[in-house]
Amino acid sequence: MKTFVRCGQLFTGREDEAQKEAVQVYDEAGWIAFAGEAAGAPKQGKSDRLVDHSRHFVMPGLIDVHTHLAYGNAKTEEDIDLYSPLEFRALRGMFFAQKVAAAGYTAICSPGDAGQISLSIRNAINAGLFDGPRVMAAGPYLTTHQGLTDWYPTWIGAPETSIGKLVQSIDEAIQEIRRQVKNGVDCVKIAMDGIQRRPDGELIAAFTQEETDAMVREIHRQGKKAVSHAVGREATLYSARAGVDLIFHGFFLDDECIKAMKKTGSMLGPTLTQPKNIMDFTQPFEPAGQKGRIDATAARYKTGCTNLKKAIKAGIPFLTGTDSGFAVTPYGEWHARELELFVDDLGFSKAKALRAATEVNARFMSQGDEIGVLEEGRFADFIAWDGSPLADIAILQDKSRLRGVYKAGQELKIADRPYDPRQVTDFSLSNWNDLYTRERVAELRGGRQRLEAAE
Ligand SMILES: [Zn+2]
Repeated sequence: MKTFVRCGQLFTGREDEAQKEAVQVYDEAGWIAFAGEAAGAPKQGKSDRLVDHSRHFVMPGLIDVHTHLAYGNAKTEEDIDLYSPLEFRALRGMFFAQKVAAAGYTAICSPGDAGQISLSIRNAINAGLFDGPRVMAAGPYLTTHQGLTDWYPTWIGAPETSIGKLVQSIDEAIQEIRRQVKNGVDCVKIAMDGIQRRPDGELIAAFTQEETDAMVREIHRQGKKAVSHAVGREATLYSARAGVDLIFHGFFLDDECIKAMKKTGSMLGPTLTQPKNIMDFTQPFEPAGQKGRIDATAARYKTGCTNLKKAIKAGIPFLTGTDSGFAVTPYGEWHARELELFVDDLGFSKAKALRAATEVNARFMSQGDEIGVLEEGRFADFIAWDGSPLADIAILQDKSRLRGVYKAGQELKIADRPYDPRQVTDFSLSNWNDLYTRERVAELRGGRQRLEAAE
């Protein structure tokens, strides 16, 4: 039995235009036999099944290469690392993986998670225990005292339940890579910077070039992909020279970084959604607002977009990911905002943004040559929309217009179950944002009195 899908419009991911009145045909295992104009399609047999999307826009399932399944919509770093057991985080992560799929995302990479959470979610979905997206999984980030995820004082270090694994030497890094590969990761994440700055504000790379080269060589020798968190110029440059497959952020890249990326083939996932959501959503009374993070993020975003455009012009492949899993990027909510930001802030055409989130993202994913494009020999991972994202890219964020999510030809029917966010994350022990000295209380009361007087 074959399945015939009638498509009002078919965007294969290979071309910039959608084909009208097209047909997609796939077998029982979900392998596509034909995708194209109805005139050239094979004849439908009596026992074949028909799926009618003749009024819809059919395209490859979206891919998000930067969704952290273990984070749980965290409000604090401690929330990510400390307050809930790994077992709860894995169950929660499965629930959220389904939320992501229900938003039209048939594949995600979870680059950097505590313990074996994303591996376990991947394995449970692959075994058929749960419906969910394809998951490309990583273990904890490799980090040093200068890297992201080493948040806590040196006398605490990175706890076992942290998303980071502190390594003190090349030998320790290589051992950790081998341990993660034994556990079954698809990729290894390196925290190339994120914390320490020089007096002029430049971020310092957490590893040397020599250390980065050694780690990436071992990751590749084991047949796995290397990804890095690199915001600063130095971390981006070391990652690019070492041949990291996918560099996240790269906001301060320069011509030297671009040259190295061209040489080794590193791709870039800027992850615009998380900083843009910080800028747009953070309220002034929140700790991030009080620490000046809104303005700092806005300045970094502006510089970042200017620099990133140089890499686009040079032909570096750009991948879409959102850093979902934080309180500003809850699962299933903002993934497709990245495409809108690619269009608005990086100058992508809508078609090019769609291709970034499908065909280009697939180049990085495990078994990437089986997904991301609707063509013969790949899996029928596809979604159907009421309306065309080629006319309005923002409709991809409107789940009420999603008319079907299919993985390997099977429709995923995931109940949109509401949940109590207070029982899911935010187990932090903090109670106050302010400090009530006599002076501060007088200031607050004075402000209130002035307000009342004005009314
Ligand atoms: Zn991230």
